[in-house]
Amino acid sequence: MRDLGDILAEVRGKIAAACERAGRDPGEVEIVAVTKTHGEDVVREAWEAGLRIVGENKVQEAMWKKEASPAGPSWHLIGHLQGNKVRNALATFDFIHSVDSVKLLDRIEAVSENCGFMPHVLLEVNVSGEKSKSGMRPDDVAAAVSHIVGNCRRITVEGLMTMAPFSADREDARPYFRRLRQLRDEIEDRLQVGLPRLSMGMSGDYETAVEEGATWVRLGTVLFGERPKAKTRRAVSDGDEMDFGLDSYSAGPVVRVYD
Ligand SMILES: *Cc1c(COP(=O)(O)O)cnc(C)c1O
Repeated sequence: MRDLGDILAEVRGKIAAACERAGRDPGEVEIVAVTKTHGEDVVREAWEAGLRIVGENKVQEAMWKKEASPAGPSWHLIGHLQGNKVRNALATFDFIHSVDSVKLLDRIEAVSENCGFMPHVLLEVNVSGEKSKSGMRPDDVAAAVSHIVGNCRRITVEGLMTMAPFSADREDARPYFRRLRQLRDEIEDRLQVGLPRLSMGMSGDYETAVEEGATWVRLGTVLFGERPKAKTRRAVSDGDEMDFGLDSYSAGPVVRVYD
């Protein structure tokens, strides 16, 4: 097994090279260490290697993991958030990358008002339009930003997040990342707001994302190796046989959202 410190040095080198190619300052790019499916030992390892942000895609999983982890890292939610988990999410995470509807914004605002949170969020955009991906339509993002500015006094929106379609060639991701940045620029101009953060790029495409303006790259596999596979089992829903992942961290079976 390679040492995380060595891997990180290599990844940071690639980020620096991508910044160089794009004429950017490498200090603008931070790594979100995606620790989903791993234990608290991996959070500790990440922290000791100098990583300062951990990304999780499930609220419940992050809750126990954070409890068991050393204090220090900033915890970011990068997966879909359901309305009934907003309260726990706001208590657990410093940042939510994955706000994907105005309805969810209203829920976050209402819970924040009740419980005294001042959340920082990104809006997740489904740039590719793939049905399997969450996120708002690009055309709906400006209205959501206006909605926050006009109606959500507790929420600070700091930017946009996206996922590119899966591909073995990182170059294929470029148009989606570029579109997100352009959308951000258009909205900043039109609404006179600052949206400094762009969360884009994963293990397979982060160099391209950095070339296109990413400020947060969300990296799991390249840092920690392949994730343990969730066990699957058969479940029947509406007469159709579907594959569900049996999520060991949640109370019941949930659809697999990773890999
Ligand atoms: C799992 C996940 C990642 C990390 O993926 P890797 O390919 O392992 O780097 C990034 N972003 C989101 C939203 C994820 O769910």
